[in-house]
Amino acid sequence: MTQLNVLQKTETLHEARWWEPEANGRVHCYLCPRHCHINPGQAGFCFIRINEGGKLYSLGYGAPAALQIDPIEKKPLNHFLPGTRVFSMGTAGCNMGCFFCQNWDISKSRHDQVHSQRVPPEDVPLLALEHGCDSLAFTYNEPTIWGEYVIDICRAAKKFGLKTVMVSNGYITREAFHDIYDHIDAANIDLKAFTENFYGKITLTHLQPVLETLLWLKNETKVWFEITNLMIPTLNDDPTETRKLAEWILTHLGPDVPLHFTAFHPDFKLRDKPRTPPETLHRARQIAREVGLRYVYEGNIYSDGAHTSCPSCASLLIRRSWHDVTENRLKHGRCPECGTEIPGVWEKNARVSARSAPGTSEKYSHLNL
Ligand code: SF4
Repeated sequence: MTQLNVLQKTETLHEARWWEPEANGRVHCYLCPRHCHINPGQAGFCFIRINEGGKLYSLGYGAPAALQIDPIEKKPLNHFLPGTRVFSMGTAGCNMGCFFCQNWDISKSRHDQVHSQRVPPEDVPLLALEHGCDSLAFTYNEPTIWGEYVIDICRAAKKFGLKTVMVSNGYITREAFHDIYDHIDAANIDLKAFTENFYGKITLTHLQPVLETLLWLKNETKVWFEITNLMIPTLNDDPTETRKLAEWILTHLGPDVPLHFTAFHPDFKLRDKPRTPPETLHRARQIAREVGLRYVYEGNIYSDGAHTSCPSCASLLIRRSWHDVTENRLKHGRCPECGTEIPGVWEKNARVSARSAPGTSEKYSHLNL
C-alpha cells in the first residue's frame, strides 16, 4: 500500500463503488482480483483508490491524465468501425505491475504525480463529438480502476449515440464485471502471455482471472472484443506457448475473435530486451492461423499481417498501413466477392445530437486536442 500525503485535494474525492468497511477503519476493495485491504490514509496497489476516514474514494473520477484523438485501429480494434476516430482517455495508476509497461509515465504514477484535467463525465461526449469521433475509449492505463467514471461517461455518451470501448488487461472481479461491461460496446483485452509464470513474475498478477474475463465477455455479453498479445523476446514468444494460447482461444471463444500479435519496444523496467523482430510476429500469426483462428493480425510493425482478408475466398477486404485504413471493400459487413459475413461492428450509430455544445470548445481550448 502507498501512503498518500496529498489528500488536501478534497475536490478530487469521489466515493468509490465495490468496497466494504472492515475493522479499525480499514476497507476492502473488491473491484479487481487484488482485493486490497486498505488502511486509513492509504491507497490500494493501483494508487488511485484511497481510504479516507474509513471510506473508499476514487481519485481517478473526473480526472483524466491523458486525452487524445486516435484512430480506432490504434486500440487495436480491426473489426469495429474501421477508419473512424476515437476519443481516448486515461488516468493515473494501474492494478498490474507490468515490467514492460508502454505507458508507464501515467500507469506507474500516483494521482498527484500526473498533470490531470478536471473533465466531468457529461462533458466527455461533447468533446468527442466536437472532434468528429464516433466512439470513446477508456485506455492508456487500466480503466477498470476508474470504473465509476467509465460508467458515468458511458451513460452520458449513449444519449449522443456514441459507442464505448474498454482497452483493458481484463483484471476485474465477477462482482464488478457486469456493472462496467453492460455499458460497453467493444473491448480489446490484453492476454499478455499464456503462462502463470509470466503473469506472476512480469505483471505481478495471475493468468486465470484474465481468462475468466474473456469467458464472461464471450458467454454473458454482446460486447465485441478482440485480443492483444504483446510479444516480448524470450519471455512470451515461445512457439509452443503461442500455439497453446491460440488453441485456448479457438476452443473457448471460437475462431472469429480477432487476435493481434504486437511488437514490444524496450521500456520501463524491460530495457534489456530487444524490439520484437517482425519474423516473430509472422511466425506467431502463422501458428494461430494453422490452429484455426480466422482473423490474426500483426501490430506495431508495417506488415501485410495488418490487413483483413476473407476467410472463405481470401479476397483482401480491408487494407491497412500502420493505423491507417487505406482501402475498405466490405459491403455491409460482407465480402464483396463471395458474400461471406465478416464478424464485427461495421455500422456507425446514427448520432442523435448536434456535434457541438455552446461553450465546450472554449472551456477545453487549453487541451489542444
Ligand atoms: S482496483 Fe485498485 S484498490 Fe481495488 S483491489 Fe484492485 S488494485 Fe486494489
